[in-house]
Amino acid sequence: MSDYDYDLFVIGAGSGGVRSSRMASQLGAKVAICEDLFLGGTCVNVGCVPKKLFVYGSHCHEDFEISKGYGWNVPSPTFDWPTLRDNKTQEIERLNGVYRTILSNAGVELIEGRGRIMGPHSVQVGEHTYTAERIIIAVGGWPYVPEFPGNEHVISSNDAFYLETFPSSVLVVGGGYIAVEFTGIFNGLGAKTELSYRGPLFLRGFDDDVREFLAEQMSAKGIHLNFNSQIASIEKLDNEASEKLLVTFADGSQKRFDCVMYATGRKPKTADLGLEQTQVQCASSGAILVNDEFQTHEPSIYAIGDVIDRVALTPVALAEGMALAHRLYGNQEKPVSYDNIPTAVFSQPSIGTVGLSEAQAVEKYGEVKVFVSTFKPMKLTMTEQTERTLMKLLVDAQSDKVIGCHMVGPEAGEIMQGIGIAMKAGATKADFDSTIGIHPTAAEEFVTMR
Ligand code: NDP
Repeated sequence: MSDYDYDLFVIGAGSGGVRSSRMASQLGAKVAICEDLFLGGTCVNVGCVPKKLFVYGSHCHEDFEISKGYGWNVPSPTFDWPTLRDNKTQEIERLNGVYRTILSNAGVELIEGRGRIMGPHSVQVGEHTYTAERIIIAVGGWPYVPEFPGNEHVISSNDAFYLETFPSSVLVVGGGYIAVEFTGIFNGLGAKTELSYRGPLFLRGFDDDVREFLAEQMSAKGIHLNFNSQIASIEKLDNEASEKLLVTFADGSQKRFDCVMYATGRKPKTADLGLEQTQVQCASSGAILVNDEFQTHEPSIYAIGDVIDRVALTPVALAEGMALAHRLYGNQEKPVSYDNIPTAVFSQPSIGTVGLSEAQAVEKYGEVKVFVSTFKPMKLTMTEQTERTLMKLLVDAQSDKVIGCHMVGPEAGEIMQGIGIAMKAGATKADFDSTIGIHPTAAEEFVTMR
C-alpha cells in the first residue's frame, strides 16, 4: 500500500496531460489530474481545433467565388461573426465534455483548480494538498507579447477566438505559424489585413521556396505583407469611431487599424507553479529541462509538451505523454522519435512539410537533387482564381533517399501525412517513382516528378 494519495498527479489537462494520465490509469496507476482553465488545453480551446474551424469558415469566401465558374449563381454572401464565433464555442464546449468523459471512463480523478507544487511529492490545489509518488507537469504555454509603449492595446490569438465584434482592419504581428494562419483567417472573413514581421521573410526555418511562394500567394489575395517591419508604439485614439489603434512603426510611418494581434511566440507557463520548492531547473526561455525520459532534475517530477520547449505541436505532446506513461507504468519503452515530424501550417493556401528544407539538406548531405513543380490546381482552372500550388522534393544524390518534401496548396497537410510515413520508412526517389499515381489529384505530382 502506497503512502501517497496517488501514484501519479498530473498538472494540466491539455493534450499531453490528458494522454499521460489516461494511459497511466489504464495501466493500473491511481491517477489525479488538475486543471484550472479548460479541459483539452490550448489545442482544443484556443489553438488547433478552433483555428481550423475558423480556417474553414474564412475559406468559404473564396469558395463562393469558385462556385461561379461551376455555374452557381450565389447572391452576394454576407458574413455574421457572432454565428461563427458562437458555433465554434459550442463545438469546443462539446469537446470539453468529451475530454471529461474520457478522463472519467479511464478512472482518472479530475480536480478543478490551479496546481502549485509544494515539494517533490505534493501539489496544492485550492485548500487541499495532495501527495503523489510522481508528478507530471503538463501546463503548456501562453502567448508572449513583447514590452513596448501601448502593448496593452493588442490582443493575442487567445482573444481572437472570442472577439465581441469583428474588426474591419487588422494588423497581425509575427512571422510564425500563428501569424500566417490568422492573417489568412482575418482576410478570408473580410477584414482589411496586414502582417508585420521583423525579418526579411516570414516562417524562418521553413524551405525558402515555400516561404517565398506563400508570400506571393498571400499578397495576390490582397494581404499587405510588411517585412523588415518593427512596431515602435501603439496609441488608442478614443475620439475616433473606428480604426482607433494608431500604430507607429520603427521607421516613423503610421497606420490605423481596428485590431492589432500579436503572434510573437509562446512561453512555457511556469510562473507561480512552485518550482522553487523543488530541484526542477528551467532554461532561460522558462522551459523545464528534462532528460530523454522526461525526468526533471527532481527525480519524482516529469514534464512533457509545450512546457519543455522541444517541439510545440499537439501530436508531439500526445506521443510524449504516451511514452512516459508506458515507461513508468507499463514497463515498455516507446521512445518518441523527433525525426521527420510532418507538420502543416493552415495558411491560405496551406503548407505541408516533412524533413529538411533545401538549405538544411545541402548543409547535411552536400549534393542534393531538387524537384519542383508549380501549377494551377485543377479545381481553379474554370475560375478566375489565380492561386497556384507548389510541390517540392529533395533527394540525397548519393543514397537516393527522399530527405525533404514540401507543398503549398490545398490539402497540403492531408497529403503530407502519407509522405511522412514513406520518409520514416526510408523511401527512395525510386520508390516514389515506382508508385502509381492517383489520378487526377495534386498528390500524384509527388510520384511523377522527373
Ligand atoms: P513561433 O515561435 O512559430 O513564431 C514567433 C514569431 O514571432 C516569429 O516569427 C518570431 O520572429 C516573432 N517574434 C518573436 N519575438 C518577437 C519580438 N519580440 N518582436 C517581434 N517579433 C517577434 O510562434 P507562434 O506563436 O506562431 O506559434 C507557437 C508554436 O505553436 C509554434 O512554434 C508551433 O509549434 C505551434 N503551432 C502549431 C500550429 C500548427 O501545427 N499548424 C499552429 C499554431 C501554432 P523570428 O522568426 O525572427 O524569431
